[in-house]
Amino acid sequence: MSQVQETILEIDLKALQYNFEYIRSKLDSDTKVLAVVKAFGYGGSAVIVANFLEQLQVNYFAVAYAHEGISLRNVGVKTPILVLHPQIVNFESIIDHHLEPNLYNARVLNAFIAVAEAKKQENYPIHIKFNTGLNRLGFWEDDVNHIVGKLKETSSIHVRSLFSHLAASEDINEREFTEAQITSFLKTASEFVEKIGYRPMLHQLNTSGILNYADKAQFDMVRAGIGLYGFANDQQFTAQLKNVFALKSIISQIHMIEPNESVGYNRAFKADNYMKTATIPIGHADGIHRALGNGKGYVTILGLKAPIIGNVCMDMIMVNVTEINCKEGDEVIIFDDQQTLNDLAEKAHTISYELLTAVSQRVKRIVK
Ligand SMILES: *Cc1c(COP(=O)(O)O)cnc(C)c1O
Repeated sequence: MSQVQETILEIDLKALQYNFEYIRSKLDSDTKVLAVVKAFGYGGSAVIVANFLEQLQVNYFAVAYAHEGISLRNVGVKTPILVLHPQIVNFESIIDHHLEPNLYNARVLNAFIAVAEAKKQENYPIHIKFNTGLNRLGFWEDDVNHIVGKLKETSSIHVRSLFSHLAASEDINEREFTEAQITSFLKTASEFVEKIGYRPMLHQLNTSGILNYADKAQFDMVRAGIGLYGFANDQQFTAQLKNVFALKSIISQIHMIEPNESVGYNRAFKADNYMKTATIPIGHADGIHRALGNGKGYVTILGLKAPIIGNVCMDMIMVNVTEINCKEGDEVIIFDDQQTLNDLAEKAHTISYELLTAVSQRVKRIVK
């Protein structure tokens, strides 16, 4: 009998701990680790992951948006939380929840100072991001004088860290570009430190950065995201990490189909032979990309691959189980290792990050 009785996402905390320790083993003993738990902990559960990593004494968390940080504070997470992409409308609640904003241009820097002063803050911790080539968020190198000038006019905020983000840390062919980003960040940060008169923490590396550039750029802290969850943009590194997430379901119903019958919406699948199909309670609203329909994707039942037939519905898929000796109620694995997830991502023309974060919130999260 299957343990699984509905669609679930299993989270393996031992694997998470293994990956966290693996990442730490790549670093000097005094380098801090920030765990990125944005987007519900890469589609898992930010609350479960953050509560667990807090016990392992992770140094920092990062989320993308303010409300993600607020949900962590609401369950009692005490570790500092960097908000990578805050919006001005949330600055008051950022302060109320002791979240630490990334201030990435003059507009948000000025707005945050105004809110911090209005709320009578002294040395409220903030982070300054420099753009060194990703061209996404961040001040430019020649903004240092402007930032330092602003900071010297107020005692309401204090710079906890200076950081930057690599554009192609996973791509060895872009090594020269990446090294130029590292050099540029160091130069800008040194100028900043000299002018401000104190030394905030520096950090630049994401998972692939840690794996490829730890010797050059680990600085005071690194920001690990996907690696904690078992993936590394590279087969060889991924093989050294443990799988954290398993998406599982069950067979709701079996149908015996006759030749010329169709299956699913738009009659997208037509049977040419007698066949056996299984209906699974997971659809595109749960994270099964519609691109995986019509034979592209598959699930695994009793160790055998069952291709998805017809179109992926919002709440269900139908799979071909003609050759599988399965019955209603049997367990169905969508993915429970990195290879399968990467394979499905490729078939959906995307990457692990997108398939993981697509697992919707209506799928029950269970700690393994
Ligand atoms: C998402 C993100 C990370 C984590 O990247 P991974 O490749 O998942 O390790 C680190 N830093 C910033 C700024 C990010 O947006």
